[in-house]
Amino acid sequence: MAHAVFRQGSGRARVNAVRADMAGFQRALRAWFRAGKRDLPWRRTRDPYRIWISEIMLQQTRVAAAVPYYERFLKRFPTVRALAQARSEQVLRYWAGLGYYSRARNLHRAAREIVARRSGRFPRAYDAALRLPGVGRYTAAAVLSIAYDAPHAVLDGNVARVLARIEARCGDLRAPQPWSELQKSAQELLAPNKPGEWNQALMELGATVCTPRAPRCGSCPVSRWCAAYRLGIAESLPAVRRKRAPVKLRIAAAVLLDPRGRTLVVKSGAGKPAGADALFSRMWQFPAVEVGRNARAELARHLRSRFRVQAASLLPLAQARHTVTFREITLAPFLIPVERFPEIECARTPLLSRLANLAVSSATRKIASTALACTRSA
Ligand code: SF4
Repeated sequence: MAHAVFRQGSGRARVNAVRADMAGFQRALRAWFRAGKRDLPWRRTRDPYRIWISEIMLQQTRVAAAVPYYERFLKRFPTVRALAQARSEQVLRYWAGLGYYSRARNLHRAAREIVARRSGRFPRAYDAALRLPGVGRYTAAAVLSIAYDAPHAVLDGNVARVLARIEARCGDLRAPQPWSELQKSAQELLAPNKPGEWNQALMELGATVCTPRAPRCGSCPVSRWCAAYRLGIAESLPAVRRKRAPVKLRIAAAVLLDPRGRTLVVKSGAGKPAGADALFSRMWQFPAVEVGRNARAELARHLRSRFRVQAASLLPLAQARHTVTFREITLAPFLIPVERFPEIECARTPLLSRLANLAVSSATRKIASTALACTRSA
């Protein structure tokens, strides 16, 4: 039996063990996928633009959370030309809430490049796709295989986990060498017929059956080819990555409010509060600063020195916690009534109740709704 060689040798030897019955392995996974795949909006199209948008959204976002954003985004920007013609502010507005806003900025730049240099068509060549902003190996392989049936294997966290278990591979998968070996494995296992469907089947298996914790090996269509299952070590693979130690930050934000219900927002980065860029993602934000213990005094000082605002009273609002990658942020907002706003370059003064019409991060939205609730109950 092929499984005898699973425990030894290089990644290539382990893949060869699966190759002993490659056809059966591929048939089983495909049949399972066709019979029970989730009905997702981006699976109803072969349009590379739509597939590309879904792949970028799904990079850091769960499927269920991404679906409404995907539908809303495509309603507003139904073609790559529509996206390319939009103002960056608009694009960010439709991305607001998804986080990791560099994805939207890169998407927008890439759309402009596709329209300007490629007649509005997503490239068919892998190397050309890789040259687009924000398109890495995974995204290029996913879009080209699904949209054009190009023979490129995807390797993301889900696929890596499935392959690592099938091959009983130990160690940190994200280290350069194992990752490149997995890339080779994925390419060797790629079914030549409908490679896009094959890629999606592997990803689906990782997302729904071969999950990080408690894989459902009893319901797995490829358990008979899986070395980790045979060895009884599926749950302990892959090795848990050592996480970067969390960094705790406290950021105070000022919701200035004039008698007409308007507030002041600036482009994030104004005042350069360390850590705040991660929270506000270089979008419109309330003036904010990283603080120590005395948030109120430090924020008042910041408003004086940076914005020439003499804040007579700072009313504390409900604090909120945010985690952005390794940063654990405590957000301490204050409501500050003012008669008029200071003259500041690159600032806006929208109605607090209409702030969501601007490109703002979810942290800013959260502060705004807390402040609104406070003003309505006052
Ligand atoms: Fe994953 Fe278990 Fe299937 Fe192996 S048998 S691929 S560990 S779900």
